[in-house]
Amino acid sequence: MPLSHHHPVDSSAVLDWYDLHARDLPWRVSPGDRRAGISPDPYRVWLSEVMLQQTTVAAVKAYFLRFTGLWPTVFDLAAAPLDAVLREWAGLGYYARARNLHACAQAVVKEHGGVFPQSSAGLQALPGIGAYTSAAIAAICFDEPIAVLDGNLDRVLARFYAVPVPVREVKDDLRAALQASVPKRAGDFAQAMMDLGATICAPRNASCLICPLQPGCIAAREGTPLLYPVKPAKAEKPVRRGHAYVMRDAAGDVYLQTRPAKGLLASMTEVPTSPWVAEPAEPDFPLTAEWRRCGSIVHVFTHFRLELDVWSAVVAPEGLEHGWWAEPATLGREALPTLFRKVLAEAGLS
Ligand code: SF4
Repeated sequence: MPLSHHHPVDSSAVLDWYDLHARDLPWRVSPGDRRAGISPDPYRVWLSEVMLQQTTVAAVKAYFLRFTGLWPTVFDLAAAPLDAVLREWAGLGYYARARNLHACAQAVVKEHGGVFPQSSAGLQALPGIGAYTSAAIAAICFDEPIAVLDGNLDRVLARFYAVPVPVREVKDDLRAALQASVPKRAGDFAQAMMDLGATICAPRNASCLICPLQPGCIAAREGTPLLYPVKPAKAEKPVRRGHAYVMRDAAGDVYLQTRPAKGLLASMTEVPTSPWVAEPAEPDFPLTAEWRRCGSIVHVFTHFRLELDVWSAVVAPEGLEHGWWAEPATLGREALPTLFRKVLAEAGLS
């Protein structure tokens, strides 16, 4: 399904919308200023794009203002001690990014005289700048006619073309379709599409009535924008089933034991269970007693999903040598994994 053979995105409608509704962002040159000949500062655009890889626009604003206050130019950032950069980065996570940020500033100063390369290919050769970031900077700063496609745009385009499969299966087609739509004002178009994805065609809300893409949007026409992007089918985990036995003595104490030293949940505390098997089996109670079925619980491990029927009984403690009896009030201090906390909760003990 080559989407590129479908209609392109109506870039002039998108730009008209952007001219009226562009978000005011501290690293952005407004469309009016851009038309008046003011160019975005690649240093500021680069800094914002690296920060935006971590978190939302709202969270990035404060970091951006602080960084540009301390280090207004790439020369200032390159000359800053790495420690200071890492300290200011704290809270954004992924310190490797901050190290790359610093290394990139130094490379721009040392290898390029403090001037960022003016093409996506040149930018991509710098530390920490990947395909997306280089395209974004090249489009925004130098109007390079290049498709700037991130996760938000994947969603917008998946809706626009009503893509019936998960986007990762048609990524190249989406890129080609977007590439075919890039107008002369490539930078404003890239930013307009980012704004659209953030505000109008948002993950849990599509405001089709005020969207400039609406006339050509297939999902909007079908009235089903939120069905896209289609989610990849999750591989079904195998199911194992079993029974868990919550035994209490006459005083109300609960019988616990230690799991084997090897294997899943090794050496942690448990109540006895049957083997966990694929086919449902009858319970094999550890003691004869009046067993009562309390309910069942589900717990999902990395490789399988476990469903346990939970049984409880008051028992005479003979014949249970390996474990110990715990007062219900002390259960919080036992090394019980979540699975067994669920079991005990199902039996009315939590
Ligand atoms: S018309 Fe609706 S679904 Fe289509 S791109 Fe706009 S907001 Fe998204």
